[in-house]
Amino acid sequence: MLIDVHAHLDLPQFDSDRNSVIERAAGEGILIINSGLGPDGIERTIRLMENNDGIFATLGLIPQEFNSDIIDESIGLIRKYKDRIVGIGEVGLDYYWVKEAEKRRLEMDNFRKFISFAKELNLPLVVHSRDAEPDMINELESHGISALLHCFSGTPELGEKAISFGCLVSIPASIMYSRRKQKLAERIPLEHMVLESDSPYLAPTPGERNTPLNIRLSAGKIAEIKGVSRDEVADITTRNAKEFFNLRF
Ligand SMILES: [Zn+2]
Repeated sequence: MLIDVHAHLDLPQFDSDRNSVIERAAGEGILIINSGLGPDGIERTIRLMENNDGIFATLGLIPQEFNSDIIDESIGLIRKYKDRIVGIGEVGLDYYWVKEAEKRRLEMDNFRKFISFAKELNLPLVVHSRDAEPDMINELESHGISALLHCFSGTPELGEKAISFGCLVSIPASIMYSRRKQKLAERIPLEHMVLESDSPYLAPTPGERNTPLNIRLSAGKIAEIKGVSRDEVADITTRNAKEFFNLRF
């Protein structure tokens, strides 16, 4: 069994064949945690979860959302569905798309809001960060909260800092070609690692649509890097995800 801790199967890229993508993943023993973002993504993800065994939900909002109505509506919906989800996220900091200091401050305010919200609801937190890893990790550490770092793209040193206070580092299928991700996987112990597809993004071949099936490739690649069996990678990453999200299956 494998767990894809982060996918966006609710997006339009799967409108023509969503059911077959889900069935094929289930047929290969892959459980999926779908990340629903913003009011529409939240509703779509809840429907996806309710219609499919083997799909769990985390709910969040893209960091670069500054419309306070949308932020409030998203938080209201997450509260409404809190008993049916396994985590809050993704939420976080994106300095790639947000360059202005004032807007970065707003992003940080929202990130803090979601950190408090996850603590209040006692749900695990899934974090997105892009070009903002030092600030993101400091923020988590100062709030005394560990998180799953989705598609972590910081340095191996920052990754080690994050795992020192309990974070999990999620490795995407782009590890098949990304030297950076391969180096990260070398340094992060399996006990702090999980697998994600981030479907439809981050395919093992750039430009293609990604699906949860591709985390099988990542498991093989990580096994090769670590010098262990693929089964060991599958077992440990599955156990990590199961414990972090308190999954029942
Ligand atoms: Zn995502």
